[in-house]
Amino acid sequence: MMYKIFNTIAFRLALWFTGIFTICSGVAFVLFYFLATQTIQSQIDQELLDNASKFSAIIHRNGLMGARELAVVEAQAAGEKVIFFRLVYPTGEVFASSHMSYWKDVHVGKQALRSLIINQSSIFETIQIPLTRQKARILYSYVATNVILQTGIAMEFHSKFLSAFKKVFIGAMCFIVIFSAVSGWLLIRKALSGVATITKTAQNITGSNLEARVAGTGNKDELNHLVITFNSMLDRIEELVKSIREMSDNIAHDLKSPITRVRGFAELSLTHEESLEDYRIMASNTIEESDRLLDMINTMLVISRAEAGEGDFEFKKTNLSIMIKEACDLFAPLAEDKNIKFHQTIEEQIFIAADVKMLQRAFSNLLDNAIKYTPETGKVSILAFKENHQVVIKIEDTGISIAPEFFEKIFERFYRAESSRTSAGTGLGLSLARTIVRQHKGDISVSSRQGKGSVFVMTLPYSNPEVI
Ligand code: ADP
Repeated sequence: MMYKIFNTIAFRLALWFTGIFTICSGVAFVLFYFLATQTIQSQIDQELLDNASKFSAIIHRNGLMGARELAVVEAQAAGEKVIFFRLVYPTGEVFASSHMSYWKDVHVGKQALRSLIINQSSIFETIQIPLTRQKARILYSYVATNVILQTGIAMEFHSKFLSAFKKVFIGAMCFIVIFSAVSGWLLIRKALSGVATITKTAQNITGSNLEARVAGTGNKDELNHLVITFNSMLDRIEELVKSIREMSDNIAHDLKSPITRVRGFAELSLTHEESLEDYRIMASNTIEESDRLLDMINTMLVISRAEAGEGDFEFKKTNLSIMIKEACDLFAPLAEDKNIKFHQTIEEQIFIAADVKMLQRAFSNLLDNAIKYTPETGKVSILAFKENHQVVIKIEDTGISIAPEFFEKIFERFYRAESSRTSAGTGLGLSLARTIVRQHKGDISVSSRQGKGSVFVMTLPYSNPEVI
């Protein structure tokens, strides 16, 4: 369980959140501490410098005697544990000081004196008062020619501030770590709760329960976007699964009839004594049914190979006008048999790069359908022309027409409209035609008006014959 929590995004984000929050707060504290101590120290330094100025002025006015008295009086006034004054010669010899019992172990710093003499500018240093835990800030400064003042102030306030700050720092940091970890965890868990819902829905979805959908967050946030995408993906999957089911039902249905018939012929030949002629007829029927089956299976293979981009298409410069005319010549007797008027308006010399056999198959399927689904005395017109870098081939009929909701469905494998089930067919013709045309980078669309017939439009890209 713990292991699982460590692996969650929420845990890792909360950890990052806490880490960043803690580091930022730590930096802020350090900066504040640095600024505060700097301010305190510069205040102390200023006080020391002010004292040095006082000594300088008194020596100027009253001589060294005045300075001696001032040292004693000033230290008494401020507190002898708080401040001290020592007047020394540049040699380090002390000639006057305030009461030094508390400061007796703070000596004149030889190094500081040397620096002062060399640089001729005041020297500050921070020292630890021996045998105490106190720190002091010391100033060495010339107050008259050959007279140096060593004065120091106990940094009591500084130490108090430091220890108070330490306590506040530790307390605040503990609070910040706990607060940021808890609030970070809760916030991130809340933000990611939508993901958990999506996961739950995904887990609940099985082949039989594709209807489940995730409820949106209602906000225009990333999660809502994810939910919408996830739901539309489910819509698509549901649609696909449905069409696969329908397709397999259709395949089963369409394969069942010829196989049943073939079985019937075989059974008949076994159970009945028939004449040789009858056996011949039965054998030829069996071959016919088997051919139909093979044709269906081959067509299915062509479609799936072409859809997978593995079709054996051979593109060559093709005179499309001739190809269409030849196909029309082939179908004209069929139309004539049904007393259907057959019109052709075909532009001459349309050249494209095509696999002529395949394209002929696609066009023939459309033509075959137009004649098949047009009742006697109807009309079928073929139009072929170039238009804006495209070749357009229109097959218009006055047939049984198609309802708009089936415009896309009729291109699916094995789909046959109820009204056309009485005519012979496999439901693969349009699917194959569209696949072939799409392999030529073209497309097929349909429009139809109830009672008026249908128009199938095949478009193919056209490029100058010189560049094919
Ligand atoms: P088949 O013709 O073998 O049934 P197709 O794939 O060629 O299969 O056509 C699929 C379905 O589309 C047909 O069953 C029919 O319902 C409809 N259809 C195709 N062409 C036409 C047309 N010209 N007029 C009316 N319906 C058509």
